[in-house]
Amino acid sequence: MDYEAVIGLEIHAQLLTASKIFCGCSAAFGAPPNTHVCPVCLGLPGALPVLNRAAVDDAIRAALALGCTIHETSIFARKNYFYPDLPKGYQISQYEQPLATDGEMDGVGIIRVHLEEDAGKSLHEGFPDSDRKTYVDYNRSGVPLIEIVTQPDLRSAADAAEFFSRLRSVLVWLGVNDGNMEEGSLRCDANVSVRPVGAQNLGTKAEVKNLNSFRFLQKALEHEIARQIGVISEGGRVVQETRLWDSAAGRTVSMRSKEEAHDYRYFPEPDLPPVVVDANRVQQIRSAMPELPGARRRRFVEQYALPEYDAGQLTQTRALADYFESAVAAGAPAKLSSNWIMGELARKLKEEDRGIDASPLTASRLAELIALVNNGTISGSIAKDVFEKMFASGRTAGEIVAAEGLTQIDDESQIVGLIADVLSRHADAVAQYRGGKTTTFGFLVGQVMKAAAGKANPKRVNELLRKALGA
Ligand code: ADP
Ligand code: ZN
Ligand code: MG
Repeated sequence: MDYEAVIGLEIHAQLLTASKIFCGCSAAFGAPPNTHVCPVCLGLPGALPVLNRAAVDDAIRAALALGCTIHETSIFARKNYFYPDLPKGYQISQYEQPLATDGEMDGVGIIRVHLEEDAGKSLHEGFPDSDRKTYVDYNRSGVPLIEIVTQPDLRSAADAAEFFSRLRSVLVWLGVNDGNMEEGSLRCDANVSVRPVGAQNLGTKAEVKNLNSFRFLQKALEHEIARQIGVISEGGRVVQETRLWDSAAGRTVSMRSKEEAHDYRYFPEPDLPPVVVDANRVQQIRSAMPELPGARRRRFVEQYALPEYDAGQLTQTRALADYFESAVAAGAPAKLSSNWIMGELARKLKEEDRGIDASPLTASRLAELIALVNNGTISGSIAKDVFEKMFASGRTAGEIVAAEGLTQIDDESQIVGLIADVLSRHADAVAQYRGGKTTTFGFLVGQVMKAAAGKANPKRVNELLRKALGA
């Protein structure tokens, strides 16, 4: 029998607000342990939480980008459980009435987007007595998160990884999350079940927790799907449980079964009033939102007649798309700009491990280089050298071309002279050409270009060489 996988994701994304969600402590990553703490985020008795408005705005932004309905009233709830990194003994989250519901992105339904606080971080390693003790850093306690829960609409491990990656791009594009999965600012739990192809009912799911890279998500799901199909094919049943991905062993392992699952005893948070978001505020946020990657990709195809592929590449990040449009605004033809950006520029940036934001070559300078090629001042191959020099020195294309005498040789008499010289030095090749070996033509063009130090206009060389050979 053939089986299909059914996958739904729960994604936690840290919002990029300056301060925490219920207190004024800094939400920045990387400070010395327990320096960004106060009575509220340490859960001391009597300390009262106050909601950070900026976190709500960011959450609304993300929810709108995912096509969700923002609810006028949402409620914070206490999710009770004991863990050393959770000093209050409960996490403030949203449960029955979340901020937003019923969205969709790339054909995947979004069940809900809700706000919650992060827990602290248990440090099991890195101290002299780490073999006997666990330390806790509460800097992360109270950092604002959104949780995004998808419908079980994904059907393969690869699709799930692809979707997660596109979701990451959208959140980073909006500026609500930094996309840094290594630092834990974006984390994913994957729910997966299998069922016979064509079946309507869902199978029993397992949840694989804490997948912090696209590769791990894909690998963990591939493994888990194969495991579940194996269990069912042998006449067994999948048990509902939480599993962990053991990347060293390349398999998922059971963490706890449904019987051991927590009953969180959710109840409305008595210290916080309901969150009220009126239509006006939603409208304001919506109208200030940037054009999203999908819309921008489609516009690039329509407005600039770019191939789908180019448009997809150029909208990988907002900075890259901005760079492209700046080059075009500075007068460079769209397709040529795209070629340079996806080709030489991408290669150099990768080589030097820089983002487009840190490119030493601005878009307007790239446009200037492209203009020099377009108006025939320099040849395409010289342009590549000039590009390297611009990248390394920060000088403009015009400066480099002038200083190094790279202007293209267009002058007919000069090219004719070079050709005559080459033909006299390669009488045998000329004889071969005349004897019918036409491939020799390319060799002769190469010799003329070499004699011109690459500066001759290749089109003119071709024409004049044919003429000289009487072809
Ligand atoms: P739970 O109550 O166990 O948290 P939810 O119904 O809240 O489960 O769903 C959590 C996530 O699991 C969602 O992303 C949802 O799409 C996904 N999910 C639910 N049921 C299944 C299933 N049978 N197979 C795969 N994913 C599922
Ligand atoms: Zn605090
Ligand atoms: Mg749930």
